[in-house]
Amino acid sequence: MQNFFGLQVTGRLNQQTLDMMGQPRCGYPDVNEYSFFPGRPSWPSNTISYRILKYTPDLRREEVDQVISMAFQVWSDVTPLRFVRQTSGQADIMIIFAAGYHGDNAPFDGSGRTLAHAYGPGRGIGGDAHFDEDEQWTLSRYGINLFLVAAHEFGHSLGLGHSNVRSALMFPTYQYVETNGFKLSYDDIQGIQTLYGAQTNGGSRTTRPTKPPSPTKPPRNTKPNRPTKTPDKCDPNLSFDAITSLRGELWFFTNGIFWRKQPRRQDVSSVSISYLIPNIPSIDAAVEFQNEDVILLFRGSQYWKIRGFQMLPGFPRNILSFGFPRSVSQIDAALYIKEEKKALFFVGEQYWSYDVTANRMDPDYPKSIEDDFPGISNDVDSAFEMDGYFYFSNGATQFKYNNKNKMVTQVFKTNSWLNCK
Ligand SMILES: [Zn+2]
Ligand SMILES: [Zn+2]
Repeated sequence: MQNFFGLQVTGRLNQQTLDMMGQPRCGYPDVNEYSFFPGRPSWPSNTISYRILKYTPDLRREEVDQVISMAFQVWSDVTPLRFVRQTSGQADIMIIFAAGYHGDNAPFDGSGRTLAHAYGPGRGIGGDAHFDEDEQWTLSRYGINLFLVAAHEFGHSLGLGHSNVRSALMFPTYQYVETNGFKLSYDDIQGIQTLYGAQTNGGSRTTRPTKPPSPTKPPRNTKPNRPTKTPDKCDPNLSFDAITSLRGELWFFTNGIFWRKQPRRQDVSSVSISYLIPNIPSIDAAVEFQNEDVILLFRGSQYWKIRGFQMLPGFPRNILSFGFPRSVSQIDAALYIKEEKKALFFVGEQYWSYDVTANRMDPDYPKSIEDDFPGISNDVDSAFEMDGYFYFSNGATQFKYNNKNKMVTQVFKTNSWLNCK
């Protein structure tokens, strides 16, 4: 148990462990990282119905309706799932607030400890979510925040078990986090997209009124964040702002998101850029410095260094620190040449070569893209190196370039990397 919660494993019941055991939590038993129910059940249809059968007197009905809808939206924002509210009859996910014994084999335990539980996808009680009425349900940091608990329970309703990643929504203990701008952790997204895939075109439509409820206390706006809609990765006209390798994966950036493609795996997952850098709408260029195990992301005159999913301290920095002249205010694309430990930066019709080990620009640059890369236009949207080839994109078109023979060897749609025909 200590191991699961990321505590020091002593095998003894120390105070830290007792503290963790005393924390209010979900009633579903624990397992590891993001996980699924035995047999990995999931809903067969992307449209899932729910019905709130019994309300809590702690909140107004409209508030409950609103919060439940927002909690479903957390999941529909990152999957093709759509949630439809029903006000009568049998729905896939039946929701009740109840105290003590409430008809299943898991009676609630009064105030504190177990707050709620939910059943994995299936018929009958499958998918249903039960909330302990002995809790004080709120829309704020006081009492038990219904949005956070409901979003967690609906993760179970959709087929997720618990995660041992502390920042994950599916971590078993309740901890208040700011609900305004709430975001799933990367672990939650990986888990749910393993079951249902990433969101396809058009975004999800949850039956949710656009105006959030005003919480009773404190008077803070609980407006949920609306992540940028995920574009259709197979749109034939889709172009990319940047493409980079990272630890053998390829990351394809467009607007506020990127797709991750792992080698030898068919599935492609989409991730919001805000997991790397908060509050930027898009990036211009990305490059992996393999010698440092980092990627650099560029936007305008700024760049960030990211290792894994962690932004390194001291960033953003100005791109002038690479030695660009002041006239360069942004970078179109960048690639890293492993053998030479050089980075090439593409800006308009020119490119620069940067010596990554010496931390300085090579002399005699910039040079002309057209002269040195015959067949590559002056408008490079993205660039990366893989298996000795350079890959450039312009609009929706990808050029595979042999730098030794100085020629384009293949032209194809950029999104064919993402399993698109
Ligand atoms: Zn749980
Ligand atoms: Zn129950």
